[in-house]
Amino acid sequence: MSADLQLCPGCGSQLAAVDGPTHAYMTSSPACWAAFNAVIAREFADPGLMDIHRLTVDAWAVQHPGDGSRRAIQSVGLHLARLWVQLDQGISGPTANAAMLGFAERKADLPELPPRQVYTVTVAYVVDASEPDAHRSAVMTWARAVWTDWADQHEFIRQWAIGGSK
Ligand SMILES: [Zn+2]
Repeated sequence: MSADLQLCPGCGSQLAAVDGPTHAYMTSSPACWAAFNAVIAREFADPGLMDIHRLTVDAWAVQHPGDGSRRAIQSVGLHLARLWVQLDQGISGPTANAAMLGFAERKADLPELPPRQVYTVTVAYVVDASEPDAHRSAVMTWARAVWTDWADQHEFIRQWAIGGSK
């Protein structure tokens, strides 16, 4: 890695170094946080991309397990459950929103999940895809790759997610 790149301690992305802020508890490099913000800015600027915006947020959050605090632990599980809703169950729109509100009410139950050592796709892959179609495609690839990287926890997440509907 050349000296002008920053290695992200969360997702492993290597992006051009920047000085800047990071998220309050989802530990990342400043460059990774800046890339994430650039990606979501494109989504806020284009109503046609808002249907994949939640996937972007969930993929990035899952990849940055954070500082070990209770809210950081909950964040990983909650965002994995949201990926399950969207990618495995194919639910979107108001139904997805209702499911996610239910998850948030039960997030205190979530245990700490074992962090990943390597991610196959990071926000570095998405940030360069500036055209809307390329952006959408890159986010889908990224979100599916993140979900696959957590394959050993799929059954746990599924059980947790459906537990609230009993
Ligand atoms: Zn990162």
